[in-house]
Amino acid sequence: MSRESDTRAAAARHLEAAQCHACGHVFLPFGPVCPRCWSDRLGKRALTGLGEVATFTVYRQQYHPDFPTPYVIALVALREGPRMISSIVDCPPEAVRVGMAVRVRFKPRCERWLPLFVPAADAACPATAHRGLKE
Ligand SMILES: [Zn+2]
Repeated sequence: MSRESDTRAAAARHLEAAQCHACGHVFLPFGPVCPRCWSDRLGKRALTGLGEVATFTVYRQQYHPDFPTPYVIALVALREGPRMISSIVDCPPEAVRVGMAVRVRFKPRCERWLPLFVPAADAACPATAHRGLKE
């Protein structure tokens, strides 16, 4: 895959969740019925890709060559309600905090485009945002 097609593929990526047409509940993962009302009248809804870190852990043991340590596995609470497990990247692990605003960024890993999360632009990584500022 060329660099240009990589860029096009990444630009086309977005998050989707299931949405119940009966009660409006937005959820992940997709399933055959709504976990709130059991309706099978479901559709898809595009998500903003914005959320915050609900909880996280730092892995210091490498299990896969595409995931050098240390790396952060986090439960991200998406703005629309669903929560998903992903990784926080482009931020030192020691700077990740519960409640930190993040946004999705698709990155190639293990021959796929994975939805990873980076600090949101308006809430940049604390280690970067406060560099050079007096505490
Ligand atoms: Zn429902």
